[in-house]
Amino acid sequence: MKALVWQGINRVAVEQVPDPQILQPTDAIVRVTKTAICGSDLHLLDGYVPSMVHGDILGHEFMGEVVEVGHEVRRVKVGDRVIVPFPIACGKCWYCQHNMTSLCDNSNPNPKLAETMWGHAPAGIYGYSHITGGYAGGQAQFARTVYADANLYKVPEGLTDEQVLFLTDILPTGYMAAEHCNIQGGDVVAVFGAGPVGLFGIASAFLLGAGRVIAIDRFPERLEMARSYGAETIDYEKEEVFERLKEMTGGRGPDSVMDAVGLESHGTGLGGIADAVKQTTRVLESERPHALRAAIMACRKGGTVSVPGVYGGLADKIPVGAFMNKGLTLKTGQTHVHRYLDILTNHIVKGDVDPTRIITHRLTLDDAPHAYQIFKHKHEGCIKCVLDP
Ligand code: NAD
Ligand code: ZN
Repeated sequence: MKALVWQGINRVAVEQVPDPQILQPTDAIVRVTKTAICGSDLHLLDGYVPSMVHGDILGHEFMGEVVEVGHEVRRVKVGDRVIVPFPIACGKCWYCQHNMTSLCDNSNPNPKLAETMWGHAPAGIYGYSHITGGYAGGQAQFARTVYADANLYKVPEGLTDEQVLFLTDILPTGYMAAEHCNIQGGDVVAVFGAGPVGLFGIASAFLLGAGRVIAIDRFPERLEMARSYGAETIDYEKEEVFERLKEMTGGRGPDSVMDAVGLESHGTGLGGIADAVKQTTRVLESERPHALRAAIMACRKGGTVSVPGVYGGLADKIPVGAFMNKGLTLKTGQTHVHRYLDILTNHIVKGDVDPTRIITHRLTLDDAPHAYQIFKHKHEGCIKCVLDP
């Protein structure tokens, strides 16, 4: 089959690779019908995630048709149309039982590396380096999925691939980030980053009762899209963000602030990733993370900072004094996708949110290397690329 593979920093290519096989009786093979490129993939492209190996298949946002199941798979059948949540749940451990599937205890077969860096290993993730399990990803024609009964989510009749594809990650991610904002009716929420995650964060904040949302970015198409979701906007290259946020909130600051940026893919960023982790393929420069720092500084006293943006190693210059003395709450995490699937599917069916609106590029798998570049540099007005393998 064809698949998109990582070949080193800033190098991905479509290659012919062996078809995936059922390895465990709980596995299922999915013929991928749609897959997307995520801001998190850019961290792999940029070499910020340790333990990538030449030839690893990328992709954690994918869906398709089940074509083969292991002999212990009961709930999922050949022919089912499914979306595949990016974090892998075993369905049985304490975390899965408590609906915190991105923290699953059993789905990461390489926990040691993550434990060195983070103290505990989070769940396995498709196409996301060996620190999260080394699973082959879904930017491919076929993918092996594991613990199929606990993970594969059947698509209700009548919904198109494009309507449900983002249930795999970014729609629940925006929603969980908004939930983390602890929104009280009428609150003002500021969102740093109007990429796909920030945009779904905006839409979700309104669904959860925000009165106003203020989006901050520098790309006109993204700011425009944010406005179309009902947000007010600040261009951080043209305006003084901190001052503007104060002005727009009567001097107090937003009630909650989201960092939907994470490791910037083309910023001038900060650094000091753990030396302990020798597999780190690139050392972060020393000014990151702008957005997290700005979020902490801009949030009103007693407010909440929600961080869907992905971080990996260590970051310095975090204003921990502001954090403590303003009495802020910080909420973050890889998204517990499974928890939100029914809620968000209902919102899609009812038309409360139209996830397809953010798609700017519909391409084939062969176009993926180009798609990575336009998405990374936000060229051609790129907001979200969907690939048809
Ligand atoms: P993206 O790269 O398309 O969007 C990031 C946006 O942030 C860009 O529009 C960029 O211009 C903007 N930006 C950069 N620096 C900024 C700054 N200082 N202030 C304001 N805006 C700034 O990526 P995306 O797909 O939207 O993903 C965003 C983040 O969410 C990434 O870090 C990604 O890894 C993370 N993510 C997390 C989860 C999770 O489970 N927590 C899931 C998916 C994605
Ligand atoms: Zn993603």
